[in-house]
Amino acid sequence: MSFIISAQDYEEMKKLATLVRVMNSLGHNPATSGNYSLRSKTSPDIALVSESGIDKSRFSEDNFLPIFFETRKMHPDYLKSNRKSSDETDIHLTIYQITKANCVLHSHLLDSLLFADLFYGKLYATIEGLELLKGFKGVKTHELKINIPCFDNTQDIALLAEQIKPAILEQKNNYGLLLRGHGVYVWGDSVEEAKRHLEVFEYIFKYYLNSRRGY
Ligand SMILES: [Zn+2]
Repeated sequence: MSFIISAQDYEEMKKLATLVRVMNSLGHNPATSGNYSLRSKTSPDIALVSESGIDKSRFSEDNFLPIFFETRKMHPDYLKSNRKSSDETDIHLTIYQITKANCVLHSHLLDSLLFADLFYGKLYATIEGLELLKGFKGVKTHELKINIPCFDNTQDIALLAEQIKPAILEQKNNYGLLLRGHGVYVWGDSVEEAKRHLEVFEYIFKYYLNSRRGY
């Protein structure tokens, strides 16, 4: 059975590709780093994950590859192309399997690393008291604590994908996670929501770095 990207998915891929290029210009993707994905709206067993090794200034809607949730494998129609989805594909698929997210962004923004260092040795970066927290889905007040799970970096992505599950599932409000010395994952119900959540994270990073607050 050949795989044809639906018009609905293609629209989202175009939207996300545009966002990737904008994010690249803002320092999220040095040296081809970072990866991005969508949950397919029309093929429930598939995520569309960014291709490995692409200069993000030239990233386009055609740089997404269909990957099956269950097997973690690329659709057979694409196997002969010698293209490969991101090394961190497993993390994207796991986030889709345990949340209702439809879009996942992964950035190597320098501020995300510096921010994670403020919480060195902690399981979570706990954020509170900022009005902009209301930019996160479902948040109506600055008077709450948001725990962002933090993990040590590793090249064992399958293991990391297992480790993130309980940390995400135990949080009522989950919007992202931090990898020390590596970057940040952010997700949302749509490309627009993931982008908005990323903007909140960027603001949090700047605020804490400028005030040098850590716990
Ligand atoms: Zn990465």
